[in-house]
Amino acid sequence: MAKQPRRRCKICREWFYHRFQNEWWCCPEHGAEYGIMLREKEKVKKEQQRKKEAQQERRNLKIRKLALKPDSYFKAQAQQAFNKFIRLRDHDKSCISCGETNPPDLHGGQWDCGHFKTVGGFPELRFEERNAYRQCKSCNAGSAKHGAKAATVAQQYEATLVERFGQELVDWLNGPHEMTRYRREDFIRIRDEYRRKCREMEKKLEDA
Ligand SMILES: [Zn+2]
Ligand SMILES: [Zn+2]
Repeated sequence: MAKQPRRRCKICREWFYHRFQNEWWCCPEHGAEYGIMLREKEKVKKEQQRKKEAQQERRNLKIRKLALKPDSYFKAQAQQAFNKFIRLRDHDKSCISCGETNPPDLHGGQWDCGHFKTVGGFPELRFEERNAYRQCKSCNAGSAKHGAKAATVAQQYEATLVERFGQELVDWLNGPHEMTRYRREDFIRIRDEYRRKCREMEKKLEDA
């Protein structure tokens, strides 16, 4: 006679001989308990499945929403990330125009990223690191206006560039540049690249 294989009870781990193929318990009580355990497990699994589906649905909704956003939305995000990087890069530099190291806090912040060649007039230098430096809010606001203040800010900006990097850089910035035709994917790529660079820079500054 073949030796009947033993099984361990799923509940108490005791060895027992089963009579039915689907019997995994040593006694009716443990059978009932095992039934409850299985139902409980099933409930947990279903709940996890439901959560996963809800998460996927939220993700899909986000993708659909982003698809409806205009290119300008991503352009603004890219510019924001780039500008933040410039401010971080120049964290220990004084204002590129007036030389102020501790400007007054205007509108919830002291510093802007100021472009030497404006983003409106020279969009091809919009994301050019050599064309952007940390600038105090007052100078940046001044350069946006026309008139004497703007001219002074621009002159000071140029003088500091020459001082820090030499005349060649100013000549290069003033020279002709290849026109860029940024598309949606470019803005997203630039945004992600500068967000990454910002994180790296922030980490470096924290560790320092
Ligand atoms: Zn048992
Ligand atoms: Zn300034």
